[in-house]
Amino acid sequence: MEINIKRPFPKSTERPFLITGPCSAESEEQVMKIAQQMHDLDIPVDLFRAGIWKPRTRPNNFEGIGFEGLQWLKRVKEEFGYQVTTEVANANHVFEALKANIDVLWLGARTTVNPFSVQEVADALRGVDVPVFIKNPINPDLALWKGAIERIYNAGIERIGIVHRGFSKFGHSIYRNIPLWQIPIELKREFPDLFFVCDASHICGNRDNLLDVSQTALDLNYDGLMLESHWDPDNAWSDAKQQVTPFDLKEKILSRLQMRSSDSDNTEFKNNIEDLRSRIDAIDKELIQMLANRMEVAEEIGRYKKQNNIAILQADRWNEIIDKSMEKAGPLGLSQDFVGKFLKAVHQESIDHQKDVMTADQETVNK
Ligand code: PEP
Ligand code: MN
Repeated sequence: MEINIKRPFPKSTERPFLITGPCSAESEEQVMKIAQQMHDLDIPVDLFRAGIWKPRTRPNNFEGIGFEGLQWLKRVKEEFGYQVTTEVANANHVFEALKANIDVLWLGARTTVNPFSVQEVADALRGVDVPVFIKNPINPDLALWKGAIERIYNAGIERIGIVHRGFSKFGHSIYRNIPLWQIPIELKREFPDLFFVCDASHICGNRDNLLDVSQTALDLNYDGLMLESHWDPDNAWSDAKQQVTPFDLKEKILSRLQMRSSDSDNTEFKNNIEDLRSRIDAIDKELIQMLANRMEVAEEIGRYKKQNNIAILQADRWNEIIDKSMEKAGPLGLSQDFVGKFLKAVHQESIDHQKDVMTADQETVNK
């Protein structure tokens, strides 16, 4: 399908595009006070955010103030000149938000995950020219994310932005939602011109890693950041742990970020980077060749096991391989986590090759 998405905003080389504001609009005073502080601190707010309808994972949490809060965003727009944005999850939200002249809409992670909801929002948007940001689905499913982009685009929305807010996890992690950077990177590979925003607040779930995650996003050439900010974060009605005051947003995050340019005109830089890239290409080529060699040997083992009626998987041997490589990982500067994952993937591929060999032989026998 031919997709020609337009970037909703121009890219700045000076600073990230900034979407900020509280997780939820709680009261008119709260919304206005946050906007006032941002204005007084000269924070470059490109889009002022506030959730009006809050999709909460469990009931009995604050579920949003509802459509009256839209008027407060309207006031922010009139008094401070900020463009404003909120989350929409159904046709009625779209209708109310557009009626209140909200500048940009976004689809939350719990909406992107559901094609029925995405389609309902898309249908409500038909014939309207408003930029829409699409957050990743809560589960790491690239197809679902792309599906949401396609549904919104097919409804005639051309200015689409992407918000990476991390993915649900089971078990312990330093993140509330694990970033799995490879998923947005894959999306970027397919659609290189998409406007990418990293929602570091929902990835982190607390204040500790906001700077680090934001910097990683800039290093990966993201266009912007979404960072939740509240004048009194500890007493916020939703996502209290991850919000920062406008002052901390400025002093502890924005002023410490380093912008990197995606390219340079300097000839020496270009030559050096080309040289380094060709070394990487050569190593990758070798790696792939070596993996193919490994699979050939694995197939040979498969044939031999078949002849001798031996099972494919021998746990002892597999543990021995893991242990030996893990020992080498540290001194070579590789993390055990990476080496473990790499070996498991290689091992799985070897097993698949061996299985193919065994069933191929079987077919010959059955013929
Ligand atoms: C939010 O932005 O406040 C929100 C609810 O986000 P998400 O959809 O990423 O959970
Ligand atoms: Mn939130």
